[in-house]
Amino acid sequence: MRLTKIICTLGPSSHSDEGIDALARAGMNIARINFSHGDRKQHLQVMERIRAWNEKHGRGLGICIGTILDTKGAEIRTGDTDHPIEILKGEEVIFSPETNERSAKKTIFVNYSGFANDVRETDRILIDNGEIAFDIVRTEKNGDVVAKARGAGKIGSRRHINLPGADVDLPSITEQDWKDIEFGIEENMDFVALSFIRNRDDVEIVREFIKKKKGSMEIIAKIETEQAVENIAEIVHAADAIMVARGDLGAELPFERLPVIQDEIVARCREVGRPVIIATHMLESMIAQPIPTRAEVTDIAHAAMTQTDATMLSGETAAGKHPLLALEAMDKVLRATEEHLAVFRINQPEPVQSERQARAEAAFTLAESTNAKALLTFTRTGQTARDLAKFRPRIPVLAFTDDEATQRKLSLSYAVAPFVMKLDKDPEKTVLQALAHVKEAGLLHTGDRVVIVSDAQAHEQLINTVQLRVV
Ligand code: PEP
Repeated sequence: MRLTKIICTLGPSSHSDEGIDALARAGMNIARINFSHGDRKQHLQVMERIRAWNEKHGRGLGICIGTILDTKGAEIRTGDTDHPIEILKGEEVIFSPETNERSAKKTIFVNYSGFANDVRETDRILIDNGEIAFDIVRTEKNGDVVAKARGAGKIGSRRHINLPGADVDLPSITEQDWKDIEFGIEENMDFVALSFIRNRDDVEIVREFIKKKKGSMEIIAKIETEQAVENIAEIVHAADAIMVARGDLGAELPFERLPVIQDEIVARCREVGRPVIIATHMLESMIAQPIPTRAEVTDIAHAAMTQTDATMLSGETAAGKHPLLALEAMDKVLRATEEHLAVFRINQPEPVQSERQARAEAAFTLAESTNAKALLTFTRTGQTARDLAKFRPRIPVLAFTDDEATQRKLSLSYAVAPFVMKLDKDPEKTVLQALAHVKEAGLLHTGDRVVIVSDAQAHEQLINTVQLRVV
């Protein structure tokens, strides 16, 4: 079993029934739907297809697909244009929130009236994560911004704009985001990934909203602004999971800082047992090519070595030519690297803070010292399985739950293989049923040692136990 989970972004290249089926069978653990693209009707159709897949195959194959709604967030974008605007190196252009051209220079419209104010906090304007960069020359009184192109290129409709270092004066969660989050709650999606958040308050207002709407979506905080990096400690505590969103982060901050920031965030999340995702450009060349570059292979391997919970594919599976080959390449590199993890063991988790965590640590240590083939546990909320995953076992955590939503959410956590099963009142019956299931699925064999974290009947009461058993 692969320990590191894979998230695939669905889009025109993959969101058909056949596309979803092929990715799920090849190892997609979670499907991400990017709400920066597509419309409500399309998102609904994709959710229906995923639900149908989970219904039809999830139980039989022992796998299920979790879902992430990735919000559009407070993005600045260029306006619509009939033809891409051709930019020459060194050319001066106007960025303007006004749609009527006011200058002989080429005008690039922006969807945001506060643009000229925010521009004062930076010296550059980046289009599409830095594919075309402009140096700011001056800001006019009428709100126009004159900027000089560092290189040549073409700017099409609704291209993404970054103002590195600027504290953009847009609300962190936009009107559109609130509507989309409500849709996610109604559709029983598992996670919402919040784009461009800056601090813990941004996470907490969304948590309040989900609670008020009686939803169960967990919150992934995307770290892609300078402010979020500065506030990382409080965000890690406030969110349910973290995504290192390297596309925007590498534009908002000097890209040479990315590797260190990535490793620091992974280490911090591992210390507190918060699932963490490495995202963007992992196999970018495979959008067009059938094989990865050697640098991409090494990037995925690095993520596996630091034992991140999950790696993510974006354009590769959403709009690329080879979605399945990209997933297969990521799967192969993760598996090959995981064979050698012992060499790259890193930081220690924070000290245990509860009896439950102490039990998880004891179970992990027992499994290591007895060469057990798996850890096995029962969990309603998923927390016991996450407590075990925090120790980054190199054997699977077989997690049995009676709640399908918990099963899907656990698809994100390192080493966890989640199953749905009715949990009997008699804990011994539940254990035997679970063992029979994993034996039948070929995950454990007669004679294998397994460490079980479970309740057990002792006289009149149930007690929590860590048990070493032989299958
Ligand atoms: C990113 O910027 O790396 C990211 C994951 O966000 P998006 O794909 O929504 O731009």
